Amino acid sequence: MDRKNLCGLTADEIDRLIGPSGFRSGHAISICNSIYKKRITDISQIEKIPKKLKEELDAKTGIGIFAPVSSEVSSDKTVKYLFITETGKKFETVYIPDNKRNTVCVSTQSGCRMGCPFCVTARYGYHGNLTAGEIVNQIISIPDAGKISHVVFMGMGEPMDNLDNVLKACEIITAEWGLALSHRNVTVSTVGITSGIQKFLDSSDCNLTLSLYSPFKDERENVVPVEKRFPVHKIIEMMKNYQAKKKRRLSVAYVMIKDVNDSDKHLEELKTLLKNSIIRVNLLPYHRIGNDAMTSASAERMQYFKHNLVVSGISASIRKSRGADISAACGLLAMGLK
Ligand code: SF4
Repeated sequence: MDRKNLCGLTADEIDRLIGPSGFRSGHAISICNSIYKKRITDISQIEKIPKKLKEELDAKTGIGIFAPVSSEVSSDKTVKYLFITETGKKFETVYIPDNKRNTVCVSTQSGCRMGCPFCVTARYGYHGNLTAGEIVNQIISIPDAGKISHVVFMGMGEPMDNLDNVLKACEIITAEWGLALSHRNVTVSTVGITSGIQKFLDSSDCNLTLSLYSPFKDERENVVPVEKRFPVHKIIEMMKNYQAKKKRRLSVAYVMIKDVNDSDKHLEELKTLLKNSIIRVNLLPYHRIGNDAMTSASAERMQYFKHNLVVSGISASIRKSRGADISAACGLLAMGLK
């Protein structure tokens, strides 16, 4: 049998791994609890399983939990971690402490191949998908793992471009035998790949957020190349249809850029796009990249958008920016590239 890593396997997969040797599904649950809740790093530390099973696992498997190779702390206490896999893939993870709400922002790919021109991750290029184990490891291997209450899939990569591993990671994060976080505390972000979104909505109860940038097709195409293949209006329709079926949070992220997408015309189109839905809007400041001439919309303009959306019956909030001084904010993860 190939040597597998246990981190990244579901309880059913571990059951199938140990079942042929006569071990029970209860042992599979014990293994999951030790890995995902106790975050053990050695098979000898797995609790509530027989010695013979430990010996068998030791011969066939590894734990697969690996620590970050470096970290950087922001003035606001946000921490950015760099990981390198056994095969040399590099990716970054951001931990955002905030009183009782402590969020980890995970990567799903090393780099990204969506090519959004404003994003530094795109400039780093694409270096491969992360496995479910490599995604979950970002949550359980950092020093503050025990304090994490929320997980967002908003790091490097497009989650819908690595959907099977993302779905499996979501299952492990929310399962009782896994990290046991509520699905309402787990959010997957996408620039909009229709087939992936359909499957995600069908297969997971976790929250979904769509990066919008502009409600106008021609403008969005310039910022989000996938708009050409997957028009955002169809994705919003899909989200509206699912809203009624499942209790989950669906939202759009709207990064506000001065004199680019913060006009009254944009506001009105945004309202039209989202009317008759309970899709929320998260308004975000823009982070300047390198010599980029664009700047964020002002705080007053963001408040104006928020107020008008709320008055129109659309739930809206302004997200504060975290970790910008260590390039840990949205669109800035790229292993030091500027
Ligand atoms: S914004 Fe997201 S999807 Fe676009 S290139 Fe950056 S990481 Fe990829």
